[in-house]
Amino acid sequence: EDLASHLPHAFEVLPPSCDTLSKTVFHQIQSLKQQCSTNSSLSSKDEDALDDGFMLCDLKIVQRKLKAWHLMFPRIKPFMALKCNPDQNVAHTLGLSPACGFDCASISEIKLALSSTGGNRKRCVYANPQRARADLEQSIKLGIGSMTFDGIEELQKIREVFDNHIEELKENGEEYESLEPPQMILRIVVPDGHSTVPLGEKFGASPDRVELLTEKAFDLGLDVVGVSFHCGSGCHDAEAYGTAIRIAKGAIDIIDSVIVRYNEMDGKKREPCCVLDIGGGYSGVDGIGGDLDRFTAISNDMNEPRFEGTTDEDETAYKVSTVVTPLVEELFPNDSSPIHIISEPGRYFVEAAFVYCARIYSAKVEKETGFRTYYISQGVQGLFKDVLLCDEIFIPIPLMVEEDDNSGTISMVNERSNGTLYESTIFGPSGESFDVVCKSCQLPEMKIGDWLIFDRMGAYTLSIAARDSSLPVRYILGGEGHVERDD
Ligand code: PLP
Repeated sequence: EDLASHLPHAFEVLPPSCDTLSKTVFHQIQSLKQQCSTNSSLSSKDEDALDDGFMLCDLKIVQRKLKAWHLMFPRIKPFMALKCNPDQNVAHTLGLSPACGFDCASISEIKLALSSTGGNRKRCVYANPQRARADLEQSIKLGIGSMTFDGIEELQKIREVFDNHIEELKENGEEYESLEPPQMILRIVVPDGHSTVPLGEKFGASPDRVELLTEKAFDLGLDVVGVSFHCGSGCHDAEAYGTAIRIAKGAIDIIDSVIVRYNEMDGKKREPCCVLDIGGGYSGVDGIGGDLDRFTAISNDMNEPRFEGTTDEDETAYKVSTVVTPLVEELFPNDSSPIHIISEPGRYFVEAAFVYCARIYSAKVEKETGFRTYYISQGVQGLFKDVLLCDEIFIPIPLMVEEDDNSGTISMVNERSNGTLYESTIFGPSGESFDVVCKSCQLPEMKIGDWLIFDRMGAYTLSIAARDSSLPVRYILGGEGHVERDD
């Protein structure tokens, strides 16, 4: 109920319905076309966008997500996981708010986080527990103050790299006395079986190693300041966060007891743990805004059950907050606990903010059955990798256009063949027969040059499809019809 009373303020911008989304994309195509005909210095990116398609990013959705986050998780500072989508304008949008930091997994992400926060290192956490030595060296030179770890080898590496850095500064006659080694956050494994992409096999220490790892860190002269975990990306069980937070509280208690013991032993004044990092994994659907309306609209329009049951299957971020918010209050009471709680949401911020607009570059019709085949420039080895990895189903919104041969202008077509729908398959561009983006969906009659709009394309798309990272992104920044771009 509390949230409901905030809604009018939190959601100034409602995500567009299917219809307005088509119109928005059409305006983008139109403006690209206009630039094409009037501007001879058109960049090759714009030409590519018209030929191969582009991402359209609504930065207002990113802003709205941040507002919604603070309402749902008032005690928890989000550190957006840049690995999910290192788009510069998204990072700059979130970076404008001092209440948002960045989880970085690589040096390029650290640099992006620093440039988005005015160089504020406290708003970055290097949350990849395994790093190449060269990357560690760079991160220490960049002054990153906190990083996660889950094993002894990494601790030793960090100590060596830091000591080498100090030696180097000494040799060069540079200031080094004030420098401290990075503060360590211990990543533990928690149950992650209810997630689309579990991470526990790859990252995290078993909770029964907390004591040993903390002792090892102290023996090496490194401070352990907190605990982190990740319930798996696309976590479908809100209760998993509750379980994980309780396990993490147990780990914090162990670390605090080792701190007391070591302080007594060596007379140092280590402070009790001060960080709990509850990771990412939240659905791209926040569950309290317009997103669900938008998805239902798309579903109805296409007569396809793509989003039906989204609320049942998906634990929305809101559902997670109903578990997490009271629990952190119970375990870490605001007025007496020294613990700062942070989180690393990735897909939550960006999934719904990006749509992929694909231009049909080739098409075939089977005369007898009417079955149609369409070809687009991205496939399962690119933006649509989740078709293979997670059995994800992508149903596009069709956007039919007609070009005037004389003027070259385009217009939207509402209906072809009296609105008849045909069984259609959409293929990606590779020579592989498994490169199927969408099999046997119902689409109106589409032609070469028409567009297919794929919604919710912001998470692990641009960042993962490395060879596609040059895919143009166009941005919606202001009110309706106000479209600007930032190259
Ligand atoms: N934090 C860490 C350490 C991760 O490994 C990931 C994803 O792999 C994330 C945060 C972001 O997860 P999500 O996008 O599911 O929120």
